[in-house]
Amino acid sequence: MLCLGIEGTAHTFGVGIVNSKGKILANTSRVYTPPKGGIHPREAAQFHTANARAVLSDALKTAGVDIENIDLIAFSLGPGLGPCLRTAATAARALAAFHDIPILGINHCIAHVEIGRLVARAKDPVTLYVSGGNTQVIAFDAGRYRVFGETLDIPVGNCLDVFAREVGLPHPGGPNVERLAREGKRYVLLPYVVKGMDLSFSGLMTETVRKHRAGADVRDLCYSLQETAFAALVEVTERAVAHTEKREVMLTGGVAANKRLREMLKLMAKEHHAKFFVPPMELCADNGAMIGWTGILAYTHGVRQNLEDTVVNQRWRVDEVSIPWR
Ligand code: AMP
Ligand code: MG
Repeated sequence: MLCLGIEGTAHTFGVGIVNSKGKILANTSRVYTPPKGGIHPREAAQFHTANARAVLSDALKTAGVDIENIDLIAFSLGPGLGPCLRTAATAARALAAFHDIPILGINHCIAHVEIGRLVARAKDPVTLYVSGGNTQVIAFDAGRYRVFGETLDIPVGNCLDVFAREVGLPHPGGPNVERLAREGKRYVLLPYVVKGMDLSFSGLMTETVRKHRAGADVRDLCYSLQETAFAALVEVTERAVAHTEKREVMLTGGVAANKRLREMLKLMAKEHHAKFFVPPMELCADNGAMIGWTGILAYTHGVRQNLEDTVVNQRWRVDEVSIPWR
């Protein structure tokens, strides 16, 4: 069985083609980068419209298959930015309807976890999913993926990006903050916010910008921002590991590229006798293959949708989805 997965929750339009053995035959994408500032949802959606055809034909060509060989169309139904979700959904529905192929809307966050379980060979991890649009600690419990902790305001990737923009570092901010953080020498006291199992980064972001305006060294600030934000992420992940007694920790999402975050999580995992996994970066980032693979899991375990069920859901939470494949 071959599934074509379409990802379009935010800045990435991706198409992946995956078979039922978990082999990824193609995984192509194009990423919208705003000329300045953050992502404008409507502009990102227009980018997806303009690039959908090229990404799709690239994927089919790479996989060496025709659309007629595809047995299932899966797409990112949510959560994400409305205009982007609707563009991906429209592309998926058009393909499915025109070629008479079954269609399934997939939860983006669950897809991040499932592609990680496939390629990193983690069986039952506590997952820290950190990106420009999401920050969640997710683990499987009692038949569903559950959110053990999450940001109450902005995602950690967004915190790094906005800080970087404010201090004049190029976009995306994360890698530039990481580079400068290595030259930081002094820890500047910043607000560390963990509330119960949840996190908050907007006060941290504002205070780091304020300290920059007050003349603090940008390298020290990058270092301190990373140490503070990552310590909070590791604390919540650690408590989820302690509570669930799981023996695997997985890191995914765009911020997973960060070496310091990897190092801190790896150390925590070791202290709990847990294995630590990070999927290859092209599968940590938003991608079509993860949607395709989750589509295969769902379809082969009896999940079916009619076209009417494929209305996008900007706020679709992982714990609303039943998981017949686990
Ligand atoms: P995504 O939303 O999954 O596409 O990931 C993009 C986010 O990852 C942006 O917020 C980037 O700034 C962030 N990011 C990418 N590389 C790094 C890095 N090395 N360190 C921290 N954040 C990063
Ligand atoms: Mg994502």
